[in-house]
Amino acid sequence: MINIVLFGPPGAGKGTQSKKIIEKYQLIHLSTGDLLRAEVMAETELGKKAKDLMSKGLLVPDEIVIGMIENKVKSNTNAKGFVFDGFPRTIAQAEALDNLMSKNNIKISGTVALEVDEVELTKRILERGKLSGRIDDQNETLVKNRVKVYFKETAPVADYYKKQNKFTSIQGIGEVEDIFKQICTTLDSYGS
Ligand code: AMP
Repeated sequence: MINIVLFGPPGAGKGTQSKKIIEKYQLIHLSTGDLLRAEVMAETELGKKAKDLMSKGLLVPDEIVIGMIENKVKSNTNAKGFVFDGFPRTIAQAEALDNLMSKNNIKISGTVALEVDEVELTKRILERGKLSGRIDDQNETLVKNRVKVYFKETAPVADYYKKQNKFTSIQGIGEVEDIFKQICTTLDSYGS
C-alpha cells in the first residue's frame, strides 16, 4: 500500500500531479479542497460552515477536515492507497492523520513536496482562476493571502514529516512530465 501526502502551496501543481499519480498507481485521491467545494455546492451544514472561510482564503477548522478524511478512509478499506492532497495543512491535522492511519493498521509512506516560489504561485493561481471559476482563485489580494496562510500555518507541517524521515522535496517548476517522473522515482522507492 502506498499512502502519500502531496504537499505544497496552492498553485504548486498538486491537483495536476495527483491525477497522474492515481492513474498510474491506482490510488484514491483525497483532496480536502475538492471535498469542501462539493459540500459548499450541495449546501450542506458543513458546506455552510466552510464557505465563508474558504472565500476569505482562511483555513476551515481542523475537526471539519479531519472528519471528512476519516469518513473517506473508512469507506475505502480495500484501497491500494491514498493520495492526500491539500491535507494535512496544520500539525494537528498531521497528528490526526497519523492516528487515523495507525487505527487502520496502515501508515503514511512519505510526503512529496512541490516547491514553487510565491511570484510564480500567484501568477499560476490567477491564470487558473480564469478557467476554474473559483472565486478564491480570481482576486489577487485573496490569492496572496492564501499563499501567506500556507507559509505561516502549513509550511511547519514539513518539519513534522522531516522528523519522521518522510519528506522529499521536488522542484515544482518545469515540465509536468518531468516533475511526475521525479515523483514516481520517489514513490517507487517506498516499495523497496
Ligand atoms: P485547496 O483547493 O486545497 O486550495 O483548498 C481551498 C480552500 O479550502 C482553502 O483555501 C481552505 O479554505 C480550505 N481547505 C482545504 N483543505 C483544507 C485543510 N486541510 N484544512 C483547512 N482548510 C482547508
